Amino acid sequence: MDIDFNKKASSDALSDSKKPLDLILVRAIMSCSTCGKEKKFRNQFLRKDLELMVVALKVFDWMVCNKCGELFRLDLEFRV
Ligand SMILES: [Zn+2]
Repeated sequence: MDIDFNKKASSDALSDSKKPLDLILVRAIMSCSTCGKEKKFRNQFLRKDLELMVVALKVFDWMVCNKCGELFRLDLEFRV
């Protein structure tokens, strides 16, 4: 019984490693339309952790330029 279980587990691991890495690369570029200041952030998320990305983007949503107080414009680039 134990042997059967181990066999199954190792074959599962094998099929997992064949899959392409389930990573989504995200680049967020914040730019200020008033003074042109730019900030770039890069992060990567597992497809199954997409919720984490939403949480991270919510933080960006209210970021303002520390130079002139203008709300940043947010551009996103995804590499899936
Ligand atoms: Zn600014």
